[in-house]
Amino acid sequence: MLRTLNAAGDLRSKAVILRCDLNVPLSNSEITDDGRIRASLATIKRLTAAGARVIVASHLGRPKTQEAELSLAPVAKRLQELLGQDVKFSPASTGSEAEALTSSLRDGEVALLENLRFNAAETSNDPQQRAAFARELAAMADIMVSDGFGVVHRKQASVYELAELIPSYAGLLIEAELKVLNQLTTTPSRPYTVVLGGSKVSDKLAVIGHLLPKVDRLAIGGGMVFTVLKAMGHNVGKSLLEEDQVETTRDLLKQAADLGVQIILPTDIEIAASFSADAVHKTVQADAIEDSELGADVLGLDIGPDSAKIFAEAVSSSTTVFWNGPMGVFEFPNFAHGTKAVAEALTNVNGLSVVGGGDSAAAVRALGFDEANFGHISTGGGASLEYLEGKSLPGLEVLND
Ligand code: ADP
Ligand code: MG
Repeated sequence: MLRTLNAAGDLRSKAVILRCDLNVPLSNSEITDDGRIRASLATIKRLTAAGARVIVASHLGRPKTQEAELSLAPVAKRLQELLGQDVKFSPASTGSEAEALTSSLRDGEVALLENLRFNAAETSNDPQQRAAFARELAAMADIMVSDGFGVVHRKQASVYELAELIPSYAGLLIEAELKVLNQLTTTPSRPYTVVLGGSKVSDKLAVIGHLLPKVDRLAIGGGMVFTVLKAMGHNVGKSLLEEDQVETTRDLLKQAADLGVQIILPTDIEIAASFSADAVHKTVQADAIEDSELGADVLGLDIGPDSAKIFAEAVSSSTTVFWNGPMGVFEFPNFAHGTKAVAEALTNVNGLSVVGGGDSAAAVRALGFDEANFGHISTGGGASLEYLEGKSLPGLEVLND
């Protein structure tokens, strides 16, 4: 049983370290989508209302060192606006400055620590290093609340070791996310379709094998589709491709056929001469990417219009749909059509439609869809996929009695 905030008792004057996922997309230090900040507000408000001293901690991006452009300072500012109360920002996540700032908090006040991943121990493979960092974080707090759903599949210091050191509870966001994902894993209404896309190619190819026994249809677009097309013997120009995954992908296609799972692939692709918003572009057949007048060095940046129709039809005729990963480089309007078509189709599902993944959720909002027209928009991409696969997630395990 997951320990939730209901079991945390009286929180007045308690120092609570709250692990959130405030990993928002940024462009020149401007937050382009604040969905993950807004998704974290409910738990923060619940804690401040209970009189707790709230120390919010999060990562941002994948910094290798202290990269100024991955500072959480702009997030502190936005959080302050959305909360309507002062958010004190600590320029380090641990150490004397962080300790002084967090110990000065009064009941109901909020602080945000700098990017946890500026400390390499946060994501270290060495459990000793992670534990040492977690002890520094734990020293500032009486209890820990875990609410960063997007990272619960990671065995990282602030997600896993920290939760072992002091009393720890799941926050309201994690509770809400699990409620919906449980619906998908227990008895999904059929047809059940999963749509995969995005750019974390090998991560996502890896989940296909586990999802195949559970779903009726699997539609694949986005950056990962080129590894699949390659596995089918087609050339893909300079498109995103993971050569070392081609062989495994071939096995997965065979496995799908054996299981009777329908694999839906794009029949046409929107190719571009370069990776840019205003690149010359053209629709070509998926098996002829290198054959157009744009030459062989082209990049596939979206699924084509025919494919968009096929994908949309597969989605809207399903009663359970889970979608993770944009169908194309939706940040460029010329390559947002596939993503738009799939999102639109999800709003027409007569049943449960779930969007998972930071960029997919951001895409839905950036393309102007009303969040209320989706069954659920999950803040976690990798985490929700691993949950659907039936894997045990370390960041949840540690919150279980
Ligand atoms: P999510 O955060 O929803 O899990 P990912 O992080 O895996 O999704 O991928 C999101 C990114 O994938 C977007 O920034 C998008 O531009 C990129 N993407 C989608 N299709 C392609 C493509 N064909 N080539 C390159 N990048 C792509
Ligand atoms: Mg992403």
